[in-house]
Amino acid sequence: MAYFAKSPWVIHYDASSCNGCDIEVLAALCPGFDAERFGVVNTGNPKHADIFLVTGSVNERNISVVKEIYDQMLEPKVVVACGICACSGGIFHDCYNVIGGVDQAIPVDVYAPGCAVRPEAIIDAVVEAVGILEEKRAAMNEQRKGA
Ligand code: SF4
Repeated sequence: MAYFAKSPWVIHYDASSCNGCDIEVLAALCPGFDAERFGVVNTGNPKHADIFLVTGSVNERNISVVKEIYDQMLEPKVVVACGICACSGGIFHDCYNVIGGVDQAIPVDVYAPGCAVRPEAIIDAVVEAVGILEEKRAAMNEQRKGA
């Protein structure tokens, strides 16, 4: 992992998970797995966040919330679908009110499947997200220079 100008701040939203993946996200952010060693900071404010971690599937009730959080985040931003429910709807995919994975609501950059997704997989996904974030930041800078 190369040097990054800014520590990646993450925001986490539980779309409609069974809570299994949420516990793993919290575990990944706590000292036991220590995602902070990559400079990751957890925030509750979308306007401060670079990476959006979503657990659970998108349904008729929460799709507007997922979109609202995403829209409030500033560019560049990266979305990680944490767990198979967030990737595809998982075991809830054919429930009456379930629309599907997070990509049915917003663009997803990294998919971290698993039921529940393991903290190691979440950390791997966040590290991948940081790389994508830097690529997006560089592309934005190039665009500004060309403008
Ligand atoms: S992937 Fe498994 S653990 Fe995670 S929210 Fe879905 S059912 Fe729960």
